[in-house]
Amino acid sequence: MKYLFGTDYYPEHWPRDRWAIDARMMREMGISIVRMAEFSWAKWEPAEGVFHFEDLDEAIEILAKEGIDCILGTPTAAPPAWIIQKNPEIQPVDSHGHRLHFGGRHHDCQSNLAYREHSRRFVTAFARHYADNPHVVGWQIDNELGNSHGDLCFCPSCEDRFRQWLKDKYGTIEQVNKAWGTAFWSQDYSDFSQITAPKDTVTGHNPSQQLDWKRFCSDLVLDFHRFQADILRKEAPNKFITHNMMGFSDKVDYFKLTEQLDFASQDQYPGGHFQPEHNGYRADEQAGALDLIRSAGHKPFWVMEQQSGITGWEILGRTPRPGQLGLWALQGIAHGADAIVFFRWRSCTMGTEQYWHGILPHHGVPGRYYQELKQFIADTGSILEQVQGSVPAKEAAILFSYDQEYAMAIQPHHPDLKYQSHVMRYYSALHRRNIPVEFVREEDDWSGWKLLIAPFQFLMSMSLADKMRAYVRQGGRLVLDFRCGVKDTHNIAIMTDNLPCYVSDLCGLKVVEYDCLRDTDGAVSWGNQNYPIEFWNDIIQTDTAMPLALYAREFYAGTPAITVNQYGEGSVYYIGTGMKPELADRMVQEWIDHCGIRPLLETPHGVEVTHRKKNGSTYIFVLNHNAEERVIEAPESWQPIDSKGKGTDIPAYGYRVYILTCGLYTDTDSKL
Ligand SMILES: [Zn+2]
Repeated sequence: MKYLFGTDYYPEHWPRDRWAIDARMMREMGISIVRMAEFSWAKWEPAEGVFHFEDLDEAIEILAKEGIDCILGTPTAAPPAWIIQKNPEIQPVDSHGHRLHFGGRHHDCQSNLAYREHSRRFVTAFARHYADNPHVVGWQIDNELGNSHGDLCFCPSCEDRFRQWLKDKYGTIEQVNKAWGTAFWSQDYSDFSQITAPKDTVTGHNPSQQLDWKRFCSDLVLDFHRFQADILRKEAPNKFITHNMMGFSDKVDYFKLTEQLDFASQDQYPGGHFQPEHNGYRADEQAGALDLIRSAGHKPFWVMEQQSGITGWEILGRTPRPGQLGLWALQGIAHGADAIVFFRWRSCTMGTEQYWHGILPHHGVPGRYYQELKQFIADTGSILEQVQGSVPAKEAAILFSYDQEYAMAIQPHHPDLKYQSHVMRYYSALHRRNIPVEFVREEDDWSGWKLLIAPFQFLMSMSLADKMRAYVRQGGRLVLDFRCGVKDTHNIAIMTDNLPCYVSDLCGLKVVEYDCLRDTDGAVSWGNQNYPIEFWNDIIQTDTAMPLALYAREFYAGTPAITVNQYGEGSVYYIGTGMKPELADRMVQEWIDHCGIRPLLETPHGVEVTHRKKNGSTYIFVLNHNAEERVIEAPESWQPIDSKGKGTDIPAYGYRVYILTCGLYTDTDSKL
């Protein structure tokens, strides 16, 4: 693809005589694509059916003269005031029943039929107007779908839509009652019209209803996206469609959303969520988010918004250290991005995002951010061009499930137990050893992965259990952990089997009791070493499984905490507790020794190594996230392609890129 680097541009925020200057500076910097228009509905349609695309036409023409093409965002994340005045029912309702109002963004209900009609009218006109414009090469639908909708929308329209969704899923009200276990607390329904959205209740809500509601909310977003995608593909074919996602945000199933796209995109703000305990940000969490978005389509993606300055709305994070902006952008490339679009071109002087800084400062005169990124583009453009289209080899996979995430959010068991951080427990341990990770879902083909980690398989079905058995029987290595096989897919506890239900034989054990580690720490012993643990202990009775680690405290001290069971040609690890990093590292060493997964390179703490494979070559990226220089021991066969010579010292927030054409992770040795 011809595009490598871009920026998010809002010409409507700046004087017209500045546009040509911006376009020239972008070209000089190495920008070849801009995303525009995703929040400017009021400008393009100031009154119903009255369209004024002249300014946008002119901006596109000015950019095109400098060789810059554009992606246009449909602006449905910010309906204008005149629409809200005409149809105030479009504004969403929260779980307290309060309607939220105009003045921010995302003030729309995605099921509301009046809003669908406003969206249809605009998107159709927009698509028709730019259908034949060769400089408009792609669409982004809406913006960060699911953002701001954590507790939305509980309006009458969404309740109607929820009832229809339930009718489609269950057919009869009797089936709903059965699936939701409404016999408890007299919740039986005699008609669909009695069912409401799970608004605030006096006590805890029905967990089965809550799970269906979360599924419905994700499906509604998917439907809203498809509704626009259908219009765009009909009216303006031959342009790509993408969407800017947000890593581990859980409001919409990104695997399903990516099925509607030509490719996925990610918004990447390492410093946007300041974490003082980690000196600003965690490189592993950023890496995990990038890997998830690549995994959503199992192919390369774009970064549609890459941090390009200090960020914050009311409160700010740290300013990126010299080198960090380039390092963060390269991290995207290292994890599978085929293009990097920097957010935003120039820091806005107005509105909520005044301090979400861009490449240029408010006054528009280039400073450090511009100079650093210009140099970064010059240094890495040819590397990005070479690796476009490539992904990593198959090593370890993590089974990722929005259903399991929703179930854990509804009943977290321990106050500090969260699905994302639980998944990261495993991801981070692999990341510390520079082992490539792909996220896969239940319905994916698991063959080829040497290790499949399936955290928190709380909801279990016979078919999922059978698929796990088949994977292991054929030689796969599967990892299951605590609270596995507790409930069916309706969030009802399984009563016909021992824990872990349906996979007890596969694990070679039974969980006979369990202990929630509220306000206390735990420990396990593995060999002659003790390791701290947290959150939860399954009390395990082994059948054919072999204990690896034993509990070191409580009345069940000396009983198994971690086991391994041979099954067919493969094996299953069962982890009955929450591993802290020391124990997770010990576990990863076990997998390296016994499962054939391989680290790319042993590196000092904070130095990350990734790879992408293409046409028999392996491109290796080494990223130093530390504030000091680090030295790595790169093998002789790694040939540097970053014009920085042979040295293996990497400066603070610096990077190296290598290529090797044989040996490590060749196509043949990456097969199971
Ligand atoms: Zn609604």
